[in-house]
Formats: sequence, C-alpha cells, structure tokens
Amino acid sequence: MENRNNNNKNPKKDNKKDKFYYIILGIVAVLLVAVIIVFTINNNQNSEDKEIAYTELIKMIDNNEVEKIEMTVGSTTLKVTLVGEEEEGEHTTIIPSTEAFMELINQKVQEGKEINLEQKSVNPIVTFSSTFFSMLPTLLLIALIIMLFKMQGLGEKGKVYSPDTDNRTNVTFADVAGLDEEKEELQEIVDFLKKPDKYKKMGAKIPRGVLLCGKPGTGKTLIAKAIAGEASVPFISMSGSEFIEMFAGLGASRVRKLFERAKKIAPCIIFIDEIDAIGARRTSGGGAETENNQTLNQLLVEMDGFETNETIIVLAATNRPEMLDKALLRPGRFDRQITVASPDIKGREAILKIHAKDKNLAPDINLREIAGDTAGFTGAELSNILNEAAILATRYGHPAIEQIDIENAVKKVTVGIEKNSRVISDKDKKLTAYHEAGHAIVSKFLETAEDVKEVSIIPRGVAGGYTMYKTIEDKYYVSKREMEERLVTLLGGRAGEKVALDDISTGASNDIEVATKIARDMITVYGMNEKIGPISLKKDEPYEDLMMGEDIENVIGEEVKKMVSLAYVTAQKILLENMDILHAVAQTLIEKEKISGEEFESFFVNRNNN
Ligand code: ADP
Ligand code: ZN
Repeated sequence: MENRNNNNKNPKKDNKKDKFYYIILGIVAVLLVAVIIVFTINNNQNSEDKEIAYTELIKMIDNNEVEKIEMTVGSTTLKVTLVGEEEEGEHTTIIPSTEAFMELINQKVQEGKEINLEQKSVNPIVTFSSTFFSMLPTLLLIALIIMLFKMQGLGEKGKVYSPDTDNRTNVTFADVAGLDEEKEELQEIVDFLKKPDKYKKMGAKIPRGVLLCGKPGTGKTLIAKAIAGEASVPFISMSGSEFIEMFAGLGASRVRKLFERAKKIAPCIIFIDEIDAIGARRTSGGGAETENNQTLNQLLVEMDGFETNETIIVLAATNRPEMLDKALLRPGRFDRQITVASPDIKGREAILKIHAKDKNLAPDINLREIAGDTAGFTGAELSNILNEAAILATRYGHPAIEQIDIENAVKKVTVGIEKNSRVISDKDKKLTAYHEAGHAIVSKFLETAEDVKEVSIIPRGVAGGYTMYKTIEDKYYVSKREMEERLVTLLGGRAGEKVALDDISTGASNDIEVATKIARDMITVYGMNEKIGPISLKKDEPYEDLMMGEDIENVIGEEVKKMVSLAYVTAQKILLENMDILHAVAQTLIEKEKISGEEFESFFVNRNNN
C-alpha cells in the first residue's frame, strides 16, 4: 500500500530537448490523422451510389444485368459495367477474396452463364503509388514509435524538488511520526548537507550512501524527503523498477544522467526506491540479466566517482537488503544501513494523530485504541485506514468520522470488503460456522492465545469467514509455547469441521499453509527443535545444504509433520470435550453470521453457572 501522491505533482522539467521532441511528435501525429481522414473521405466518395454490394452483383449476374467485369490481379476491387451503360467501369464492387470470387464465376460459367470477365495485369507505377499510399499510415506509425523510443532515452524521468522553486519538498521530520531513533541517526546527514564545509575542514568524509531497509509503506520515502526538507536541498527520486522497465541499454545511461543532473544542483539528495530491482546480485547470465548488470555497474561507477567537493547523498530503499550485490554495500557506497521497522503501538498512535489532522473526526474517537487494534500495520496502511474511514463516513451520511467507520475501515484494509451480496449455500454456511467456531473455542483453552474480538462467517476478500483476536501489546519476542499454541488455534478450524461434521473441507488450506510455515520456521530459523537443536538451517547460501548432510531435510519433514499433527490432535481433543459450546456457537453463527467478543464470552459464562 503506497501513498505517494503528496508532493509529486509538478516535477520540474528543465529539458529543452524534450520540448523539441514533443513538437515533432505533435507534427507526426497531426500528419497521421490527416492521412487517415483523406483516406476515409476517398473511400467514401468511391462508394457513393457507384458501389454495388457483392451480393447485389451476384444477383445482377444471375439476372444478366452485367455487361462486363474488370479485375486487377492482386486487388479485391472490381470494375463493373452494367448492361446498357456507355462508359465502362463506372461501378465498383469489393469482393471478399479473389479466389472465392473466381470459384463462383467458374461455377456460374459451368452452369452455362456467359460472363465477360477481363483480367488485367498490374500496372507497376500504379501499384507502387497505391501501395505506398496505403502503407503511409503504417510508416507514420513506425516513425511515431521510433520517436517514443528516442524520448524514453532522452527524457530524464527523475523528479526534482528544489528549495528555490514552488516544487520544493516541504516535508520535515515533524511529518514523520515515530521513528525517533532513525530520525536522530539521520540528523547527522542533515547537518552534512547543511554545512558540508564545517565537516570537510575537520577532515571528515561525507557519507555517500544510506540504505533504508524496511517493508513497503513504513515511511522510507517520507523520511528521505524529510531529510531534504530539513536541509533545504533538492530531492531527486527515481525507482529501481523504472530502470528495468526501459528499453535495453538505457538503464545505464539513465543512471549516468541522474548523477550528472545531481552534480549540477548539488548539494542534493538522490533517492533510489526499490534498489533491489537493479542492485540484485550480479549474475553471469545473458539477456535481461546482463542489462541489469550494466545498470548496476554504472551505479557503482557513479558512486565511486564523486568529487570530494560534491555534496550528494544517495539514499536507497529496499525491503530485501540480503538480495543486494555485496559490492553495493562496500565503504564509500551504501555503507550505512538503517532499518525502518513497522511502528509499535506508540508509533502507530503518533502516525494516526498526524493523519487525523486533516480529517473530520468525532470528538470521542480514541486513537490509542485504534493503535492497539492495528499491531503490525505500516504507516501507509494506517493513513489508508483513516482515508477509508472518511469515505465510509461520507457514504453513510455521518456528520463526522465515527468509531464504527474506523472499525470498518480496519476490517476493509485487513480482510477485504464484506461481501454481503455473495450467496452462500446453507451447507457452506454450516461448514464455515463450525470452522470459525473451532478456531475461536480452541483459543479460549490456550493460555497464550489472545481474546476473541469477533467471529464471522460473512465472506471477506478470499476468506469464507474469519476470527479476529484482540491484540493489545506489541510483541518483540514470541516464545516456543506461544508458537505451539498458535499451531493449535490454526488447526482449530479444521478440527471443528472434523469433530462436528465428520468431514473436512478445502476451507482450511490457508490455515494449514501458515501452520506448516510456523512449524518449519520453529525448526530451521529459531532452532526450537530438540532433535536438531539450536542450529540455523535457513538456506542463504547453497553450501549450507552440504554442511548439514542430505538427510536433514527428511528429519525436518518428520518433525514438521509431528508438530502439526500434534496440534491437530490437541485441537480436536479440546473441541470434543466442549461439543455443547461448539454446537451453540456454530448455531448462533449460522443465525446471526457475526458475533462479538462479548457474546462469544457469554457462552462460557453460562456454562460455568450450570
Ligand atoms: P515506503 O517508501 O517505505 O514504501 P512511504 O514513505 O512511501 O513508504 O509511505 C507512504 C505513506 O505512508 C506516506 O506518504 C505517509 O503518508 C504514510 N506514512 C508512512 N510512514 C509514516 C510515518 N512514520 N509517519 C507518518 N506517515 C507515514
Ligand atoms: Zn481457518
């Protein structure tokens, strides 16, 4: 989810060549249109009452109304002279194909018809000119495409925001919520950009590149802009994927131009988003990969080639730093890495506060509570939620954004929009009800599982139903116990189907996928398996396979199977001991389709009273 429309509206283009090409492009386009119009008019003139339809012609032949037909080899237009006409070839008829027409004529002749058909060979000059003219639109089109190619190469797509134009980036650190440590670390860069001489006098080397690592939407672009804003220097940005999308050979030249431009306006910031698109490990393959290597090599050359008096700082963003070519991370290149993490609860509240500023919120809205409900959300998602809430509030005619609008927006962003319209069969409904009731009830008997917030069998997005849990605190560490119990809740859905309906469905496929991944990670990433021990089996490098021997995969497989099966058995056991609740919850779900956390709790209160 990316929301990059803030300041990108009027990038300053200072390219006269561009203008020239636009003019030529315009002329070519006008010519093309003119030619098409002339052609259409010509064709229409011919057709005005002089044209005889093909079927009409055949009828006329049958009625002996045709005096003579002239046919030119290679043309599908016939010249027709009717009986009693003085001038020859006054009329025309367009035939679908020469062969079909000849066949028809042959047939008619065999049937005894007399037809005066004259076949003309081609007049070379006429043919040439007519082919030339009929090809003119095509030729112009080709010219147009070539122009576009050229423009791709010449146009500098990078966007410049400069402090002395109206397009300056007015983003500052105040617009970036949370990320306090990151901001502190980057303050140094702002200082470098503001007073480079101070540092140079002291003999300090100015940092070249900073790599910002983090999920999409965590604010990497925002913080890069804020650095430029704080230092009031221009900001040029470009996305790694833009280099890749381009025609062969242009990636490298685009990099060169980007840096040329930066040198002219230094001190400034270059921001390269999605650098992994060009900076992935170099390979020895051919084709697109070689192209990629050229682009990456050019980037390395440029970063090494800065003069000491040029104050240009290159910021790059990626979600996959481990994919990058090691050469990019060497000293003098992107030797600093800053991880931009998803915000914690305080950060989320701060982000919501910033984005709530321009929204019409009801006074009783509690942003802290929303922050509590949105663990794991990125800044972009949070800003998106407030925007969705504003849309929903408008749609429902609320005077201001209400808590319910925000809750619905959260659901919309997490699980997709509620699909009330989809007709669900009773059988599906029952199945989903037992599945979701299974998840929810199982979690109730596990110590580390969160409380249930809502259970629903209304389909959302791809899911047939969902069980939502309350998440109150952010967790930085997850214990083995928690992970094991998570496996049990995940399999609770399938267990619900199995114990109540004695059948299982495909509805559990995602749960099973997630459970398998967790179990595998517990063994190979977190070293939590006793048989294998605290060893990382993540495969970053191919040699790691050899290190552990071949049967390690078998052991991992066995252990994953054991863990997931155990979780499945545990879930079934819990549900079998609580069949009355399972039926009650499922039945209520079938009737009401959705039950809140409190309603869910009430099933257990009643039972304790009994
Ligand atoms: P990234 O570059 O990491 O993909 P962006 O910087 O493009 O993410 O973030 C997209 C949008 O999300 C920003 O324009 C901003 O509206 C919002 N956002 C993300 N992180 C924050 C934050 N820490 N504070 C305020 N807004 C944020
Ligand atoms: Zn499920």
